[in-house]
Amino acid sequence: MRASFGRVELRADHVAKYFYAHLFAANPGVRSLFPADMTEQRDRLFAALTAVVQRLDDPDLPGYLKALGRDHRKFAAEPAHYEAVGQSLIAALRFASPMTWDAETEAAWLGAYKVLAEAMLSGAEEADREQAPRWWDCRVLAHSRPARGVAVLTLAPGGHFPFRAGQFVSVASERLPHVWRPYSLAAAPRADNTLELHVSRVDGGLLSPVLTDEVREGDILRLGPATGMMTLREPVRNAALVAAGTGWAPVRALLEELTHRPPVETRAFLVARATGEVYDDRTIRGIGEVYPWLNLQVLSRAERLPDALSAYAGWEHQDAYVSGPPGFISYATDLLAGTGVPPGRIRHDPVPLPQRTPRGVGHAQWFLDPRQPQWINPADR
Ligand SMILES: Cc1cc2nc3c(=O)[nH]c(=O)nc-3n(C[C@H](O)[C@H](O)[C@H](O)COP(=O)(O)OP(=O)(O)OC[C@H]3O[C@@H](n4cnc5c(N)ncnc54)[C@H](O)[C@@H]3O)c2cc1C
Repeated sequence: MRASFGRVELRADHVAKYFYAHLFAANPGVRSLFPADMTEQRDRLFAALTAVVQRLDDPDLPGYLKALGRDHRKFAAEPAHYEAVGQSLIAALRFASPMTWDAETEAAWLGAYKVLAEAMLSGAEEADREQAPRWWDCRVLAHSRPARGVAVLTLAPGGHFPFRAGQFVSVASERLPHVWRPYSLAAAPRADNTLELHVSRVDGGLLSPVLTDEVREGDILRLGPATGMMTLREPVRNAALVAAGTGWAPVRALLEELTHRPPVETRAFLVARATGEVYDDRTIRGIGEVYPWLNLQVLSRAERLPDALSAYAGWEHQDAYVSGPPGFISYATDLLAGTGVPPGRIRHDPVPLPQRTPRGVGHAQWFLDPRQPQWINPADR
């Protein structure tokens, strides 16, 4: 499977286009479940497939797939859709590797897809049995823009919304149907059940500009179930929290949660472009009073992080939590591992695979379908 995936990956854009064309031609009713603009969606298919193929030996994969199936209920995904997706996936893979596709490869893919679909469906069925909502419609109670390109949204869910500090949710807006993106919850569970999101606008992105610039008080946002790996590790030990930009959101939620626990030594490092542009400055200014056990450093550039970390000792006794743009997560994770934090003690959410990077397509393919590499400075959020 890995070998055949490695070959089709080189033609990912074309395989994804073939896959969706096959899916929509064979199942016309399914098209309405997807966004009007399919460009990002096509990338997401391969990002998701790559993540699964890379984790084939990972013992946590079944749990991940079950959670994914539970989450996919928000797309109104039914068992018949899984079957249809499997058929179109095999058709697309076969199309992309005419010289090498054989009965053995097909059997391997069919078997793997069956396991994947069964795990996802069992997660969805479990949620059905629990009568868990497929999604939560939340009213926007407040929308503010405390810094350039950043919005803070306060939401009131229609019913009880279960989550833990540090988790994230998939969000969609009625202004841009079927486009879902993950955002961290920026506060621990509150008595009044309200939720908070911190959104940084990605220029050229689909949903984030809608959330930062268009959404108004009274709008309805749709949220999927909360999930994620950034929750406090039990038993709670000394903690190091490292964030960049709106990666501050889950860190703030974890700090709130820590106020309800016996005090532990806590270090936090927030990379923001300039101290004057820290968007949650009200919380940060009052931090010494609310969190007397916290040592917070605000850094204006990610490059200052190594020096800031090296000013402390005892890293081998820390649990570390990292959040921010994908490039920052791998950068900070490597730094923390280098200072001596055991790798198993560094927590972060799944890192999306880089997208819109030039892929190894042939010249003709590149000419017909050029893709703009997009680079955003991780510290510039
Ligand atoms: C677990 C998790 C939690 C997240 N939490 C938050 C959060 O709390 N606040 C927040 O603002 N964002 C958060 N994000 C990022 C968010 O999900 C979206 O990816 C982001 O808002 C862009 O969405 P979009 O629809 O505007 O752009 P898209 O249409 O998805 O992307 C457009 C282009 O921009 C690129 N791109 C997307 N995101 C970035 C980025 N961060 N830096 C550089 N290029 C990018 C894409 O590769 C693509 O080429 C989180 C992501 C994950 C995986």
